[in-house]
Amino acid sequence: MAGQNQTQVIVVGGGIIGAALALYLTRAGAVVRVVEVGQGAATQASFGWINASFYVDEAHHLLRAEAMRAWARLVASLPLDLTTCGALIWDGTEAALQRRYQTLRGHGYLVEWQTADVVAARVPALGQVPEAALWCPTEAVIDGAAAADVMLRAACAAGAQVLRGLSVMALQRAGGRVTGVRTEAGVLEADHVVICAGTGSPALLKGIGALPMAARPALILRSAAQPPLATPVLATPQGDVRQLPGGELLMPAAINHQADDAESLPDSLEAAAAEGLARLQQLFPRQTIRLAEMTVAARPYPADGLPVIGAVAPGASVAVMHSGITLAALTAECLSAEILGHPAPIDTKMLTPYRPQRFSDSTA
Ligand SMILES: Cc1cc2nc3c(=O)[nH]c(=O)nc-3n(C[C@H](O)[C@H](O)[C@H](O)COP(=O)(O)OP(=O)(O)OC[C@H]3O[C@@H](n4cnc5c(N)ncnc54)[C@H](O)[C@@H]3O)c2cc1C
Repeated sequence: MAGQNQTQVIVVGGGIIGAALALYLTRAGAVVRVVEVGQGAATQASFGWINASFYVDEAHHLLRAEAMRAWARLVASLPLDLTTCGALIWDGTEAALQRRYQTLRGHGYLVEWQTADVVAARVPALGQVPEAALWCPTEAVIDGAAAADVMLRAACAAGAQVLRGLSVMALQRAGGRVTGVRTEAGVLEADHVVICAGTGSPALLKGIGALPMAARPALILRSAAQPPLATPVLATPQGDVRQLPGGELLMPAAINHQADDAESLPDSLEAAAAEGLARLQQLFPRQTIRLAEMTVAARPYPADGLPVIGAVAPGASVAVMHSGITLAALTAECLSAEILGHPAPIDTKMLTPYRPQRFSDSTA
């Protein structure tokens, strides 16, 4: 039973963003219910690379760098399987890498220039060793689905509830504010609703705010287990690859997957998977690599490619983004503080470019 002064919050969606919000809100004293219709769609399929070496502009880089620190703050208080394995990047020309190196250093980011001999020593299984690569030692990986599960369990242990298999059909409104959600099993009332429903979010915002999204479907490949081949994330001309603790190689089929702007899946998934597997094989030519699993997922991708975080109406907020694995802990820290009127751990001016109001001129 909620205490008299406890804020009641409904979180719609139990992917990495909803799970992180549920955790932070509960820890901060709110009474939280998470409504989740399925199973963390994008989070389940994610590559799970936490980084600030990919970004749109300087503000976005700084946000991602702060997001990496937010993960460090979170793992200090919750046993999450986050591995700071570093990332080795050589997915562009040497001149482009050099520019990226200088820019990242200019932003104060921890990055090193590595020559072929150092790269070869770091990843001896490589077939073709690049002349040079960037080494980002603080970048990390996490299994998004497992992390969401741990966060939801921790939230539940602290008093939250998860309602699974239930779809939120619309927001409930009264007196100019959002007062809860309508589900197929009736209305759930709350002081505040946070929409973290990934690609399902725009439908829920109809009538209160526009959230234009780009179609960004993705295919991700998982090989059968291999002997140890690579500890860091590898961002290569053949694709982005990482090795899971069980030995499987994980690779989004699109090269440079974070920047991939394809609006539809390839005509033949099998052909795309075979082509991706051939690139993986090219990277590690001494191995025999077999495809074990492929997963298709729609990525939640706001139309301008940037996160959407903040209040949308009295009683309602939204948090929808790509790179949600990187940004989850920071989003939850800041948005939970805003919702409950608590001081945020960082200067939330950092969120100004990502407020939902930037789309208010678009048609809902
Ligand atoms: C192949 C791939 C690779 C990626 N790689 C990276 C990466 O390396 N690094 C990175 O930072 N990010 C990466 N991303 C992006 C990242 O995974 C997503 O940004 C993040 O998982 C989004 O989390 P979410 O909780 O917002 O959405 P989701 O995980 O999609 O969760 C939303 C949840 O809301 C539920 N839902 C929807 N509508 C309703 C409704 N009406 N009622 C109730 N529940 C509802 C859904 O069932 C779902 O579980 C990648 C994504 C993909 C697909």
